[in-house]
Amino acid sequence: MKIETTFTEAFGAPATLVRFTPGRVNLIGEHTDYNGGFVLPTALELGVHTAIRAREDDIIRVASVSFEDIAVRTLGDPASGHWADYAVGAVTEARRAGWITHGVDVALSSTLPIGSGLSSSSAVIVGVLKLLRDLQSITVSNVDLAIMARRVETDFIGMPCGIMDQMAIVLARPGEALFLNTHTLAYDLITLPDDPVIAVLHSGVHRSLAEGRYKERKEECDRIKDRLGREDICRATMKDVDAIADPRLRRRARHLVSEQTRTQQVANALTSNDTQAIGPLMIASHNSMRDDFEITTPELDLLVATAVREGALGARMTGGGFGGCIVALVPRARLLPWRDAVLKHHPQAFHVA
Ligand code: ADP
Ligand code: MG
Repeated sequence: MKIETTFTEAFGAPATLVRFTPGRVNLIGEHTDYNGGFVLPTALELGVHTAIRAREDDIIRVASVSFEDIAVRTLGDPASGHWADYAVGAVTEARRAGWITHGVDVALSSTLPIGSGLSSSSAVIVGVLKLLRDLQSITVSNVDLAIMARRVETDFIGMPCGIMDQMAIVLARPGEALFLNTHTLAYDLITLPDDPVIAVLHSGVHRSLAEGRYKERKEECDRIKDRLGREDICRATMKDVDAIADPRLRRRARHLVSEQTRTQQVANALTSNDTQAIGPLMIASHNSMRDDFEITTPELDLLVATAVREGALGARMTGGGFGGCIVALVPRARLLPWRDAVLKHHPQAFHVA
């Protein structure tokens, strides 16, 4: 159903604006974005359609094709653990910025799998912020929009995420990778090759307890920051890492510092069209997430192994971890037979993009 129809059916009047916002998949640079490191995500063709209509009172209503109820809130309400928090948080942030003083009706419809590490949450937030910006004819840079969207996740939702998702969503287009320095926010957009292609497979495993474990990693990284006396721990040296006495924190830091190098190397390889160099770096990234950062699951490890065995040049878990998706680099001509062979071994997995 078109988003316009969804909106009218939910609220009994047509939307005044609609927008599409992509999801993102991270090619490499995992958990580096809240540690001042590099990341290399790209936008997906899949994403979230959003529609809006201004109201004259201070009520916010949110409808979604993915959920049955229509959420009704009042401007100023806090998050309540409800699915609509992400849209409500975006409206709250726009009000904080002085963009609006009234409520809105919002409808959402997603082609992205939700809760799979492809950032449906940021796509919803950025999508609603774009609607509010355009509804009120506000001038705001893409980077400032991304910073506002991040604040919704960190301050309204309470998810201590980095800036990667929001920056990827506002800056990158499909077929283009965003090489972002999350410490300075300097970035380059790098055209992705036509062949090999980037494929995303969902493991079929829901990210169990992912939020709590993500926060646990964030706390470990904060302790490493204190030890090293620097915010951008991804830029520490391996000598700094080896000097960390606690073996668990040492492993976490080793992932961040080695991932920083790998991300830079993949960006260089893309820029110089040396795609053969990328596969081994993706595999090394997965192994580092498995052994040092400890955010993979046995299913994800097996899926990556099968993906490589069946002909991917490289593959790795992508996203926050503990379930969700893998990203693989596959010769274009092999894509469909590769996909079918991998899914035959993993019947619970499915092809996303
Ligand atoms: P991810 O960002 O990896 O998809 P998150 O757990 O961060 O997973 O965000 C998922 C949440 O985002 C959902 O529980 C819901 O609250 C919100 N969300 C995402 N897409 C939609 C949608 N189409 N309609 C309503 N809420 C959505
Ligand atoms: Mg998310």
